[in-house]
Amino acid sequence: MNRIRIIIRGAVQGVGFRPYVYRLAEKMHVKGWVSNSPQGVLIEAEGPKPLLDEFLIRVQNDRPPRASIHSLEFSFLDPQGFTNFEIKPSKTTGIRTAFVLPDIATCADCVTEIFNPTDRRYHYPFTSCTNCGPRFTIIENLPYDRANTTMREFAMCEACREEYENPLDRRFHAQPVACHQCGPQLELWDEQGRVLAGRHGALLGAVRLIQAGGIVAVKGLGGFHLIVDAANEKAVMRLRHRKAREEKPLAVMVPGIQWAHELCAVEALAERALLSPEAPIVLLERSAGARPFVAPSIAPNNPCLGIMLPSTPLHHLLMKEMDRPVVATSGNRSGDPLLRDERIALQQLGDIADAFLVHNRPIRRHADDSIVRILLGREQVLRRARGYAPLPITLRQSSSSQLAVGAHLKNTVALAVPAEARETNVFISQHIGDLETDAAFSTFTETIDDMQHLYRVQPTGILSDLNPDYLSSQFVEGYGDRIQHHCAHVASCMAENALDGPVLGVAWDSMGYGLDGTIWGGEFLLARDGAFKRVAHLRTFPLPGSDAAARRPRHTAAGVLFEILGEQAWRAGDPPLLAQMLKQGIRSSRTSSAGKLFDAVASLTGLRHETTFEGQAAMDLEFAIDPSVGDSYPFAIQNDDPRIVDWEPMLLRILDDLDRGAPAGVIAARFHNTLAEIIVSVATTIGEPKIVLTGDCFQNRYLTERTVRRLGETGFRPYWHQRVPPNDGGIALGQVAAALLMETKKAKLLRVSNDG
Ligand code: ZN
Ligand code: ZN
Ligand code: FE
Repeated sequence: MNRIRIIIRGAVQGVGFRPYVYRLAEKMHVKGWVSNSPQGVLIEAEGPKPLLDEFLIRVQNDRPPRASIHSLEFSFLDPQGFTNFEIKPSKTTGIRTAFVLPDIATCADCVTEIFNPTDRRYHYPFTSCTNCGPRFTIIENLPYDRANTTMREFAMCEACREEYENPLDRRFHAQPVACHQCGPQLELWDEQGRVLAGRHGALLGAVRLIQAGGIVAVKGLGGFHLIVDAANEKAVMRLRHRKAREEKPLAVMVPGIQWAHELCAVEALAERALLSPEAPIVLLERSAGARPFVAPSIAPNNPCLGIMLPSTPLHHLLMKEMDRPVVATSGNRSGDPLLRDERIALQQLGDIADAFLVHNRPIRRHADDSIVRILLGREQVLRRARGYAPLPITLRQSSSSQLAVGAHLKNTVALAVPAEARETNVFISQHIGDLETDAAFSTFTETIDDMQHLYRVQPTGILSDLNPDYLSSQFVEGYGDRIQHHCAHVASCMAENALDGPVLGVAWDSMGYGLDGTIWGGEFLLARDGAFKRVAHLRTFPLPGSDAAARRPRHTAAGVLFEILGEQAWRAGDPPLLAQMLKQGIRSSRTSSAGKLFDAVASLTGLRHETTFEGQAAMDLEFAIDPSVGDSYPFAIQNDDPRIVDWEPMLLRILDDLDRGAPAGVIAARFHNTLAEIIVSVATTIGEPKIVLTGDCFQNRYLTERTVRRLGETGFRPYWHQRVPPNDGGIALGQVAAALLMETKKAKLLRVSNDG
């Protein structure tokens, strides 16, 4: 038995949506309830998992004709034992928050119009209606009126105004309404900014350039894409070279859903996500059909592809003309946020793109493509941006207004705002990125201002990471509370799974600032009675040259070997400087990081010694797994407080396997299997039935699936991320949730207060 919670926003109130859901639930023998709230229509339903999947898809697909879904998010939660299905009275009490809607993928009606030669919007790339089009990326102020959007500079023509003012029209009060006569227009520029063509000619010109192997920067909804023909290996390599993006996978846009099926295996929930109003990139396992259409360097050594469908009329028109998959990667310089202004893009991307397909509708704020995958039969959002931002996650606790500034990598910020009676809406910003460049840091500060301005909230509290070196922490220095990184990870996963403890949190990532002068990352945190206690962690080892080790699994491997073998770790050919650093402890810090253990094993097995993007070594190790290998290595748990998980027995056996010439795939499988057994063992020692899995390491599909299965088999209840990423993109929510958890119970362990 499972429970699914579905939140639907859009034109779903006053169109017979609740009776429709009721009848569907009765017909399908699903138990639970449906109700209206300021959030939208809320549904909770219980039943066997396959039935709930079907229910979810039918709620979306068989909806009443006048209902239109602008956003649909769902999570699976613990069942409550509903006995019937009912329409619950609407919630009307409490504080109402105005929601800023996310951008909505082009609806079927608008798609029909732009491909209908007799329609006045034939080939018009900025067609939209009340059911689709830009929202978040054009809103300057609330309320959401045309005068408060970047569309205010376009005066509606007679025909558009009639539609806008006619209550019976699909465009009644559709703020971005526009047409060929009155709305934004396309232009094609060369790399100097000289106009090559306008309107549909610009689009056709861009298509010809892409077909000829060129790189075209396309201004879309939330910023620029760089687009090349996906089948053209030379063009893809040129893009990689010019963008200095060596091996990180590139996303692919396909003309239609049948193309997704052609290239990849697409299960029902993945298809739903691809076709959803959020229209994210969906990570799919590629099939043999991908080969002729997807150049090898799009995602080297990676069994998956990130696939998305067109989500604006511009992209629909472009893809129709292309009639084949393209690479559509973010238009930015490496490490910078997405570019959204054509003049700046010209300067920044002039030496990358051969031409620019631009338009004159200003983009108020950037929104990257979101990334989603289906994991263990549920959706998991890996990057929360276009289509999701800035919608809230609702916590069933009351809070004062808080600003959480997140972590350092994959930064997002969050604003907690009191909502309904005893609830809090945590509005999570769009993905900002790694705060490594000046441009990223300005986007971070602008986003904080922007969120406070949009929601008209002056937060009374500020939350940041404990790490004083994070720019996000420095930005708020001296104010507010600081939340330990892994506590925030655990709290974020608890929050979205509606858990308030006790739980055992397994927070495994590459690194976070610990409370004891070491770098944490292989943590077992018991969340109970409003406090987090570090009950166990992986044995620590020295990381030589802590920054360098981030990109050099080889150095991490040296640290691991030095820890267990001492100076005997050096064999001929090992770098002497490194040995010296480790021996004398120069520029070495100790870490309990699970992510670093992945790096070390990836290097020891010869899979990767240096990385070009974060997480690459761990991905190589995961993709190398020989799935027929079911056994694992030994390990030990020392009975200290906190308990220490000693991986030395495992490492010694890995060295044995290497000596015997065991294939990397076998070692990779045994390594992953061992990590799952470690979690089961620690869980058994601690004895808390609910186990929360969080942190970058749980982006690893094999590790997550195996751990969840093994925990289930041994009688534990595992929980993982669904609506917010397991990576640091979920930290901002976690900071709010951790602070709340500790506040309600009046305990402050692992929370450092700075206000004196
Ligand atoms: Zn529409
Ligand atoms: Zn018009
Ligand atoms: Fe982290």
